[in-house]
Amino acid sequence: MTYAENILETIGNTPLVKLNKLTAELPCLVLSKYETFNPGNSVKDRMAVKMIEDAEADGRLKPGGTIIEGTSGNTGMGLALAAIVKGYKCIFVISDKQSKEKMDVLRAVGAEVVVCPNDVPPTDPRSYYSVSKRLGEETPNSWYVNQYDNPSNCTAHFKSTGPEIWEQTDGKVTHFVVGVGTGGTISGVGSYLKMKNPKIKIWGVDTYGSVFKKYHETGIFDENEIYPYITEGIGEDILPLNVNFGVIDGFTKVTDKDAAVYTQRLAREEGMFLGNSAGAAIKGVLQLKEHFTKDDVVVVLFHDHGSRYVGKIYNNDWMRAQGFIE
Ligand code: PMP
Repeated sequence: MTYAENILETIGNTPLVKLNKLTAELPCLVLSKYETFNPGNSVKDRMAVKMIEDAEADGRLKPGGTIIEGTSGNTGMGLALAAIVKGYKCIFVISDKQSKEKMDVLRAVGAEVVVCPNDVPPTDPRSYYSVSKRLGEETPNSWYVNQYDNPSNCTAHFKSTGPEIWEQTDGKVTHFVVGVGTGGTISGVGSYLKMKNPKIKIWGVDTYGSVFKKYHETGIFDENEIYPYITEGIGEDILPLNVNFGVIDGFTKVTDKDAAVYTQRLAREEGMFLGNSAGAAIKGVLQLKEHFTKDDVVVVLFHDHGSRYVGKIYNNDWMRAQGFIE
C-alpha cells in the first residue's frame, strides 16, 4: 500500500504544466508551476506548515495554542489544515476586499474569521495589520504568525518550491516570473535558483497601487504609489522583510483589468481554472516578451485555485460592473 500518513504529507511536488495557447506569441517554452495541486489548493500550504514547524521547534507555538494571522485566505487555509492535524486553534484577520468564498472556506475548516476594513492605512487601529497584532497580544497561549516578516515563509520556498523547479526543468530554467505579496515565494525560489545558476533572471509581478516596482527601481518608498486596487493576493502598501529585493531582477505591473481578463482566458483557453494572481502572472510574462529568446525556459508560478473567485472574476456581471468586459 502507498499512502500519506496525513494530509500535510501531500503538500508539494506539484506538476509543471506547459502553456500552449496564451503564450503562442512568445519565442520560448513557458511552463507553469501549478500550485493548486496542494491540499489547500494553493502554494501557501508549503510555507504555512514550515512556519508552524519552526515555531513549534523553538517554543513560540505551544501545545493547544491559538494561531493568529492576518491572511488573505490562502495562508489561512494552509495554517488551518496544519492546525487540525496538529491540534491548534486558528483566528484569522482578513480585509473586507477579499472574496466571500475565501472567508467561507476558512470558516469551513474551523477557523474564526475577523473581517477588517481595507480602506484604512496599516497604522490605523482598525487595519488588519493592527487588529491581528492586537489579538496576538491579548489572546492567551497564542502565536502571531506574521507571514510578512517571518523568515520561515521564504525558507519554505528555498527548501521545496525552488528545488522542485530546478529538478523538474533539469536545471534548464532561465527565467522565473511570479506575483509578489509577502515576497516569500519570489525570494525563496529566487535565492535557490540563483544559488544554482546566477544567470537565471527573477521577475516579480506587481499591481498598480503597490509600492514594489518603484521601490526596486529607485530605493524610494513612495506613498503616491499606494491606492486601492482590485487584484487579490499581490502588491503591498508596506515593505515586508520577506521581499529580498537583491534576488529580484525587475518588476512588471499588471492592471486590474488585465489580471482579471487573463485569469478568465487561462480557464477558457488553457483549461486552467485559477485565481486572480495567475492572470496577473501570465500577463506579466507576456509583458516581458522582449526579454525572452528561443531557447529560454520560463517558469511562471500559479498560486491558487479558481473556486475562490467564482463570485468575482468568473462572474460576468461582476466583471461588467468593474468595466473589465463589455
Ligand atoms: N497570489 C495569491 C493568490 C496569494 O494569496 C499570494 C499571497 N499573498 C500571492 C500571490 C503572493 O505570494 P507571496 O506572498 O509568497 O509573495
